[in-house]
Amino acid sequence: MKRPHLDSKLPHVGTTIFTVMSQMAAEHGAINLSQGFPDYDGPTALKEAVKRHIDGGYNQYPPMAGVPALREAVAAKVLDCYGARVSPDTEITITPGATEAIYCAVMACVRAGDEVILFDPAYDSYEPAILLAQGRPVRLPLAPPTYRIDWQRVADAITPRTRMIIVNSPHNPTGTVLAAEDLASLTELAERHDLLVVADEVYEHLVFDGQRHESVLRYPELAARTFAVSSFGKTYHVTGWKTGYCVAPPALTTELRRVHQFVTFVGITPIQWGLAEFMREHPEHLRELPAFYQAKRDVFNAALAGSRFRFVPSAGTYFQLADYSAISDLPDREFVNWLTREVGVAAIPVSVFYASPPAARYVRFCFCKNDDTLRAAAAKLSAL
Ligand code: PMP
Ligand code: GLN
Repeated sequence: MKRPHLDSKLPHVGTTIFTVMSQMAAEHGAINLSQGFPDYDGPTALKEAVKRHIDGGYNQYPPMAGVPALREAVAAKVLDCYGARVSPDTEITITPGATEAIYCAVMACVRAGDEVILFDPAYDSYEPAILLAQGRPVRLPLAPPTYRIDWQRVADAITPRTRMIIVNSPHNPTGTVLAAEDLASLTELAERHDLLVVADEVYEHLVFDGQRHESVLRYPELAARTFAVSSFGKTYHVTGWKTGYCVAPPALTTELRRVHQFVTFVGITPIQWGLAEFMREHPEHLRELPAFYQAKRDVFNAALAGSRFRFVPSAGTYFQLADYSAISDLPDREFVNWLTREVGVAAIPVSVFYASPPAARYVRFCFCKNDDTLRAAAAKLSAL
């Protein structure tokens, strides 16, 4: 048999760490605080609404941009939360997950040789999208413990080839949030150098301690050049439903849809109808979400307070970074393997989010878990 010639387009990419660690957790019966997904279900009324729409015959392709009722619910939410009026017809696209929206935005706008600024650490899906578009990722470090963006460094990194900048707030994996001054700096640079922006805001409703989420959609000059991306999976505890959306001005939305219609074409119909109904009938869900997750963060952090892990409480997301250097000298990948096998708690090694991992030793714990799960995990971690 003659083997085909294969020259990988992503030679350095392996199976994502989320799949690897969840599999290892299952094999060893460990408490899984690695991959970000809840061990509780989405709201009963939401599940009922989706089931009703399946039974009611909403099972064929929806419009390419998404079910109109869901786009209208997103427009109402964006107005309510951020004071921005966006058109459901020309500025909102429902996608099968935020990942697809980000991929389509990059594919639609980045050409061979274009530079895209992103940060180190960053969520793992950005760089492969840039590489597949034949763009050049330009990574700029976020230094612990604050992980603030150094905007002077961003300004210095911009060249005539820079096309896009990808920001993520609340930030996975660090749990930090961008401030209004950050968005002002971003707006100034993006306008001066005519950059496009991808704003990954999938954790927009998970911001703690009374802070407000600084969405790009609050700032018209910035929104005018931004793909703002969110995920119903995070907001409604249904990550496996893989449904998200992108808000972008009409010209950007046109380009996004040109790609989206040939990547997946649409998201799943009854899920979109169910989400539309639930959003309309249960606006309190969004209001209650920050307190719900802040309480989980506090349960986990309080239970971990007597341990030798050191941490700054997360300001947003459902992730908590922890420095384990007082416990072990192992590199983080080896540490999480040991932790999973010997201690019975799975976590994510933070180096996977970096192009140039620092010497510091951090792991990421996910706290979107039942309080009993969090306490059981913290008890094991506190014994170290
Ligand atoms: N961006 C970030 C920062 C994430 O943590 C996730 C979680 N998977 C995504 C995007 C993707 O979201 P989705 O599952 O809706 O594709
Ligand atoms: N976003 C989730 C995390 O960071 C995982 C998503 C995935 O498994 N691809 O844990």
